[in-house]
Amino acid sequence: MLTRWSGDYLRRKGVEAGRLEAELLLAHVLGVGRLDLYLQYDRPLTEGELGAFKALLRRRAAREPLQYILGRAAFRELELRVDRRALIPRPETEVLVEEVLAWAKGRRGGERGEHQGSDGGTGPGGRREGLWALDLGTGSGAIALSLLREGPFAQVVATDVSSPALDLARQNAEALGFGPRLEFRLGSLFEPLRPEERFHVLVSNPPYVSTGEWQGLQPEVRDWEPPEALLGGEDGLDVIRAVVAGAPDHLVPGGLLALEVGGGQASVVAALLRERGAFRAIEVRRDLAGKERVVLGVAAGDEMKDL
Ligand code: SAM
Ligand code: GLN
Repeated sequence: MLTRWSGDYLRRKGVEAGRLEAELLLAHVLGVGRLDLYLQYDRPLTEGELGAFKALLRRRAAREPLQYILGRAAFRELELRVDRRALIPRPETEVLVEEVLAWAKGRRGGERGEHQGSDGGTGPGGRREGLWALDLGTGSGAIALSLLREGPFAQVVATDVSSPALDLARQNAEALGFGPRLEFRLGSLFEPLRPEERFHVLVSNPPYVSTGEWQGLQPEVRDWEPPEALLGGEDGLDVIRAVVAGAPDHLVPGGLLALEVGGGQASVVAALLRERGAFRAIEVRRDLAGKERVVLGVAAGDEMKDL
């Protein structure tokens, strides 16, 4: 059978779930769900269908990620368009979003909690009830869009240093109908922000892979995803250090900093937050695989009544 043969072929090329992925690729070519393959498995493929399927198999055998070939990835409640312009959103990052949502639950921003920009505290969206978040390094837009979908957020500013990534995030925002509540800004770190601009939440899944880890990454990641989305310098912490240094200037007192970090980095990053001297309630959370993955800290200062 075609999918059995194709699955074995992919497995020989190092794709562990070869059979499943071959089925997903075939279903994609035929424009049906994977389970439909079992209902109509005896229908012979046309020459065109077979050619298209083989072309996708060859791409996967070259270890191009399945999500790039299909052009989409699932993230929490969303189906996002993905391609080589941005990192494929990961399950670990769903946990980062979960932590932010848990913190945001029941906090609605409000008078003093409003986004405090140079426009007198209303921000581009005007005076609105709800929290303001900054997603630094938004990539496909996964974090920003999930916060808008699932949390009490009035407005999200999503930045990235990569203009192609921002284009992709914009397409996702439009497809999901989140245009007006989401603002995209191009630039590195805090550059795209006004100096006095403050948020209730600063969330980021920054690049955090160290130089030494690079060669050991799966070919799908190393050879296909954007290196600037992954590489964080010699020890992987370059971007994280810069985010921790600047975050207090862009959080309201009582606001949350939530960072995804790499394996083995959590305690170092928690120490960076302590040393910064502007955070309290510093905590580390594990991902579904049990690895320490998320570091949280609350900006010190006078608590706002409504936070
Ligand atoms: N937020 C997305 C997610 O979780 O799937 C993408 C995360 S990816 C690990 C890191 C992102 O940060 C990339 O999109 C990359 O272009 C961006 N980035 C890297 N360095 C940056 C910098 N100095 N300032 C802003 N964004 C940066
Ligand atoms: N989790 C990614 C990996 O597969 C790394 C993402 C990041 O650098 N933020 O290694």
